[in-house]
Amino acid sequence: MTATYDVINPATEQVVTTVSLLDAEQTDEAIARARAASPAWRAVSPGDRARLLRRFAEVVDTHREELAELEVRNSGHTIANARWEAGNVRDVIAYYSAAPERLIGQQIPVADGIDVTFHEPLGVVGVIVPWNFPMPIASWGFAPALAAGNCVVLKPAEVTPMTAMRLAELALDAGLPEDVFQVLPGKGSVVGQRFIDHPDVAKIVFTGSTEVGQQVMAGCAKQIKAVTLELGGKSANVVFADSDLAQAAATAPYAVFDNAGQDCCARSRILVERTAYEEFMAAFETAVKNVVVTDPGDEKAEMGPLITAKQRETVASYVPDDSIVAFRGSAPNGPGFWYPPTVLAPTDLSDRVLHEEIFGPVVAVVPFDDEADAIRIANDSEFGLSGSIWTRDVGRAIRVARGIESGNLSVNSHSSVRYWTPFGGFKSSGLGRELGPDAPFAFTETKNVFISTS
Ligand code: NAP
Ligand code: MG
Repeated sequence: MTATYDVINPATEQVVTTVSLLDAEQTDEAIARARAASPAWRAVSPGDRARLLRRFAEVVDTHREELAELEVRNSGHTIANARWEAGNVRDVIAYYSAAPERLIGQQIPVADGIDVTFHEPLGVVGVIVPWNFPMPIASWGFAPALAAGNCVVLKPAEVTPMTAMRLAELALDAGLPEDVFQVLPGKGSVVGQRFIDHPDVAKIVFTGSTEVGQQVMAGCAKQIKAVTLELGGKSANVVFADSDLAQAAATAPYAVFDNAGQDCCARSRILVERTAYEEFMAAFETAVKNVVVTDPGDEKAEMGPLITAKQRETVASYVPDDSIVAFRGSAPNGPGFWYPPTVLAPTDLSDRVLHEEIFGPVVAVVPFDDEADAIRIANDSEFGLSGSIWTRDVGRAIRVARGIESGNLSVNSHSSVRYWTPFGGFKSSGLGRELGPDAPFAFTETKNVFISTS
């Protein structure tokens, strides 16, 4: 009997659809089909591969609203966010559609011949996606991999398969050959594990928890399989007294409560210079109380529910009754996995809320004394994915940005992910980089060829 999974709408707790899950044997069959499709796909001329990807981007564009609505129902993302996410997929595919003709090698001076490098596709790439951003994270893997001439097998998170499954259909509508891009719903321990163990999968792109990421890397080591890891975060939002405090406080809620805090880049620690602490907290309280937490399909929604009942339990476990809660926002009652935006003011720098990734709408605020103290606290973390620095002093902004051990920082802003700039983590936040101009090269092997002229 085929195993199935009931997809639940996190805002209503109603079943949206039932998805058949692949078993190990079906996964192996899909990998075999991808391998069989590989020689023809890598032989498609660069211009034609580019044209097919441009068409794929156009088909995604015409289905943006449908994809966004699917994500609202499957994941509880606000409709505004879900529209951005569908547009991001279009843009990522369009950006990498320009890569096939630009996988340019080198010509290196040598005696008695010529020496050239080629960027050869790896073959079949396995992409394993988490539930927090099902669409964008899928595309950050599959788009550059396809552009570089690879076939892709992609496993969505068990709880959020719907948009990825639709994207695979849209790829076929756009004219991508059968089996070049396959989406395989199933359990991580089954489908994901086969990607890792199967010798015909040449590389794994994994986004998810640090814990599973360690297992993925250990599994890949057995076959010297290439791996990119995008893992957890505990990013710091560092606010200096000389900053535009009103702007820093007004934007801070969205830097952590966006997607209900289920964001690897969430600025879930706010470090505030002691002399500005009271003023910041007063303005921050107003901003937090104004976050619109409601039905994610509502155009006004700024935050929706958590993904599952289990995730809500995990998040709530970080706020036991004796927590120092500074203030809270609101959340609906009734069905749905709701949790209000919550601001904690821990007094001990070793408090777990300052070190563990909560992955929910909970932020911890602590004061600091000076620039060195701010950098020290920011770096007192196993993670290093993202972060923000608020100051009007340009020199300080640059010093602190260079001082914080993190892959993606923003000054006087909370932006961190642009598809045309590199994205990834220091320390336990990951290995390798996604996005940006170099991503397709991460899906190739460099081959050096010497041709004798003597
Ligand atoms: P997760 O439990 O690590 O799962 C991620 C994916 O791995 C899912 O598709 C999961 O499948 C699969 N998986 C689980 N066990 C596996 C195994 N043994 N072998 C192969 N695949 C396996 O993470 P999550 O709970 O979905 O997502 C939350 C985490 O992702 C957070 O820690 C967050 O920080 C991180 N994240 C990082 C980034 C980044 O770019 N750095 C972005 C987004 C999220 P199932 O669905 O069946 O469990
Ligand atoms: Mg998990």
